[in-house]
Parts: sequence; C-alpha cells; structure tokens
Amino acid sequence: MWPGCPASDRPLRARSTVDRKPVRNRAGDDARMALLSDVARRRVRPVRPAVGRFFSNLQMDDIATKVWRSAAPLKCKIFCWLARKKRLPTNERPFRHHLASSATCLSCPRDEDTDHLLLHCPRASEVWRFFHRDFDDHDYATFPDFWLLRCRTYEETTINTAIAWSIWKRRNTLTFNGVIEDLTTVVQRCLEDIRLWAFRCTTPASSHLLNSWCNGYDPS
Ligand SMILES: [Zn+2]
Repeated sequence: MWPGCPASDRPLRARSTVDRKPVRNRAGDDARMALLSDVARRRVRPVRPAVGRFFSNLQMDDIATKVWRSAAPLKCKIFCWLARKKRLPTNERPFRHHLASSATCLSCPRDEDTDHLLLHCPRASEVWRFFHRDFDDHDYATFPDFWLLRCRTYEETTINTAIAWSIWKRRNTLTFNGVIEDLTTVVQRCLEDIRLWAFRCTTPASSHLLNSWCNGYDPS
C-alpha cells in the first residue's frame, strides 16, 4: 500500500481522475478541451498541424512501396529493402571497412556489390534472362532502377522478389558451402517459392495468376 493512499475496494481505473475516452460535443470536438485554461489550449492545439508538416516534408520512396507490396514472406521483403539500400553483406562491404582482403565476386573477376550480385553478374543475368526473355542488364544501372521498371504490379513484385531471393541463396551456397548450383536448381527453387507464396496472396485472382505463371515454366 502506498503511504498516504487510503485503501478502497474500487478498482484503480474507477478511482482514476483522468477520463480516457473523448467526450464529443455537438461540433464533434473533444469537450474535455473546454476544461483547459486558455494557455493550456494554445499549447495543445498546435501539435496536430506540426506533426502533419513533419510528415509532409518527407520524400516518397517509390521503391519502398513496391518492396513491401508483394506476397513474399517478411524476411524476403527485408532482403529486398536491404538490397534497395545497398546494405546486403556482399564482399564489397567488408573490403570497404578493411575487414577483407578482396571484394572480388566468386563467380567472375568483378567486385561484388549489390548491383553486381543481383543484376550484372553473369550468374544473376542468366536467371533473369531465363524468366524475362527481354532482360538486358545494360538497361539498368542499379538494382533499384530494375525494381522501379519491372515491378509494376503486386504479382510482378512477388515474382521478382522470388528470383532475387533465389539468386541470393545461390550466392550463399557458393560462398559458405563451396557448391555451385546449376540454373535448373535455381529455377526450381524459385518456382516452388512462388507457388508457396501464392497461398499468401491478398486475392484469389493474384494467387491464380502466380500459379499460371509458374505452370508456364513447369507444368508439374
Ligand atoms: Zn560476378
């Protein structure tokens, strides 16, 4: 028991002097404002416009909206977000921080940064070309450029997230296990992921479209 606080059987919420629910007057305003002094009212009211101004000054990130609107699991969306921010743990990062002696890609003589790993590396390009016949990595300077142009719908974003995720897993298998996965393995994993993610779609139409797209490559 707190000293000086009289005992009571009433619950604490009932004894509280603070009214948590807003009491609306006829104009729809919170009637509790009328209980405040003029000075207190001037302090409270400017808060909402100030918050609005703060958010209105923030720039809209077109890639961000595309990254998060897909049927992919959260870990794959975060992976795409890190790729968009160039924060994937590629060989270039430890080399830049003097933690590694080389930034070279394990699949070719170029340095391995995010854009190279997911877009310009021959092992990445072959996967993109398999699924997108018109793909040419020279059309896109960076991975976000590709994302902006090729992820126009919820379904396209889901498909491209699965392809990028599969390229990333192929790279990790080579880096940590020393195993070179062939194109068939990467493609099959990609199709399995998309078929699984189709169950997470927000509409049956999206789910049907993703399954149809997969059947075009592997009708199993
Ligand atoms: Zn490479």
